[in-house]
Amino acid sequence: MIGPPGVGKGTQATKIADEFDVTHYSTGDIFREVLRDSSGLAKKLERYINKGELVPDGIVFKVVKEVIFQNRTEDWVLDGYPRNVNQAEMLGKLLDERGQHLDHALYIFANENVLIKRLSRRRVCPDCGAIYNMEMNPPEVDEICDKCGASLIQREDDKPETVKNRLSVFMEEVRELYDFYDKKNILREVNGEGSAEEVFARIKEVLEGG
Ligand code: AMP
Repeated sequence: MIGPPGVGKGTQATKIADEFDVTHYSTGDIFREVLRDSSGLAKKLERYINKGELVPDGIVFKVVKEVIFQNRTEDWVLDGYPRNVNQAEMLGKLLDERGQHLDHALYIFANENVLIKRLSRRRVCPDCGAIYNMEMNPPEVDEICDKCGASLIQREDDKPETVKNRLSVFMEEVRELYDFYDKKNILREVNGEGSAEEVFARIKEVLEGG
C-alpha cells in the first residue's frame, strides 16, 4: 500500500487483512514497537521517525528480512513499504528468491487539506495499535481504546511541524514509485477521501476486479 501519511493506509490494511485473510505488516508499526525499548536501534530510529524522515533503506531491509520474511505466511498486505524505488527493487528480489510476486500496488490518494486535518485528529492505542479519528471514528469513551481500555495517544510524528515534512518526503518519492509499479501493470489507484467504509468499498472493487 502506497499513500501519503493520513490517507488511511493502516485502517484500510487492517480491513484488507480481515476481508481477504492475509497478514498485515506495517513497517511503521514495526519501527514504533522497536522505539518502545531503549536499544541502540531504537535511538537510531528515533532520529528519523520523530523528524518525519525516512529510515535509511539498509535498516528497513534488515528489519523487513528479519520480521516479514521470517514468517511463513504466504499472503500479505504490506502497509507503508516499499516507500521508494530502491526498497521496491529490494522487495522484488526477496520475493523472486521465494518464487513470490506482488499482485497489486495499491495507491491511495487524497487532497492535502484532508490529510492534514485527519492527522491532527488521529489518536492511536499504544498497546494494541488501534487507530481512531476524534471526529469521524471516535472511541466510545473519550481518549480510551475501545478494544483494550488503554489511554490513547497522539503519535509524536503527527504533530504539525513533522506532518509537513512527512508530506514533502512522500511527494519526493512517490512519483518514481508510482511509475515503477505502473510499468509492471500492477498499480491500482483508489480515492482515499470519505469514510473508512466508503474507501474500503472502492478498494474491494479494485482488488476483486483486478
Ligand atoms: P508510518 O506509520 O507508515 O507513517 O511510518 C512512520 C515513520 O516510520 C515514517 O515517517 C518513517 O520515518 C518510518 N518508516 C515507516 N516505513 C518506512 C519505510 N518503508 N522506509 C523508511 N522509513 C519508514
